[in-house]
Amino acid sequence: MTRAVVLPAFGEPVRVREYPPPRPVPGGMVIAPTYGGICGTDLHLQRGHLPIPTPIVLGHEGLGLVHELGEGTGTDANGEPLAPGDPVMWASSIACGTCPACRLHREPTLCAHRRTYGVNRPVAEEPLSGAWAERIALHPGATVVKVPDQVDPVAAMAFACAGPTLVHALFERRPVRVGETVIVQGSGPVGLAAAALASLAGAARVVVLGGPAGRLDLAKAAGIGDAHVDLVGEPDPETALARARDLAGGAGADLVIECAGAPVAVAQGLTLPRRGGAYLVVGQYTDGGDTLVNPHQIVHRQLDVIGSWAFTGAHVVEYVRLLPALAARFDLASLVTAFPLADAERALRAVAAGTVLKAVLEVAA
Ligand SMILES: [Zn+2]
Ligand SMILES: [Zn+2]
Repeated sequence: MTRAVVLPAFGEPVRVREYPPPRPVPGGMVIAPTYGGICGTDLHLQRGHLPIPTPIVLGHEGLGLVHELGEGTGTDANGEPLAPGDPVMWASSIACGTCPACRLHREPTLCAHRRTYGVNRPVAEEPLSGAWAERIALHPGATVVKVPDQVDPVAAMAFACAGPTLVHALFERRPVRVGETVIVQGSGPVGLAAAALASLAGAARVVVLGGPAGRLDLAKAAGIGDAHVDLVGEPDPETALARARDLAGGAGADLVIECAGAPVAVAQGLTLPRRGGAYLVVGQYTDGGDTLVNPHQIVHRQLDVIGSWAFTGAHVVEYVRLLPALAARFDLASLVTAFPLADAERALRAVAAGTVLKAVLEVAA
């Protein structure tokens, strides 16, 4: 039998259950996950903040070994031959290819009928469709990419979901230009992925505005960000915001990337770009409600305000391509805390409490 971590219903603890081993469908494959990542979205799923079907095997990010290829499956997304035992990552979502977003607007992240492993493939339809399991069965259309041999799998997991999210935001929505100053709001995995990619893209200075202090110390030790401002530990947020603007050159940053998630961060963030700068909002993936903003900031600063939603398979392939360069420059593995698969509930509580930066479930071979 195959063990998997199931969310039985909203608000309940996750539990390990067993299912018959899956068989690969033609054009698909079965993967044996080595690691399944835990992301903030998983907490929202558990709490019922998103309308998903239950019971469901969770895990929309993972890295594993090809276990069995389905009939007709021979290569990864780059056309590289695939064989059992190859380390791979895969994209959680498959866009439909036919809705207006896919076909007319060329925006597959906005697909109206996206099917996502670990999010909307319930046990009733497909038991083993999440990465928090000994096996996951992928269907035709899933984007699978080989992970280069020299990349430490733990390092690859540091930004498993955040990395492709920021590749989409920074490749397509608002690229970082060489020599720009950048302020990143938020020091969780999304914020640190933004800061690391901004540096790699040639930013002259990257200021990480976040907290608590322990998280910023972890970022510093990993080599991520040129300057760090603790907003959480500062009694008056205005002091921290002014300090971030100063560190970005006084008048504010050329580009500010919101990766904090709390709605109030957007009200604060609109005051951080220089006049004529850009504000890229990435962190508000879950609807956290309203916040009071001063729209004058947008006009007086003449801001470009840009949103970026999720990612596609292409962004996962691009993230994996960047991994050797990212891992050479930053100590990504130091950001990750591994928990055994059976301790998934404990790991979720650690993520909720903020005691770990990036939690992954380790699936014993
Ligand atoms: Zn995620
Ligand atoms: Zn679609």
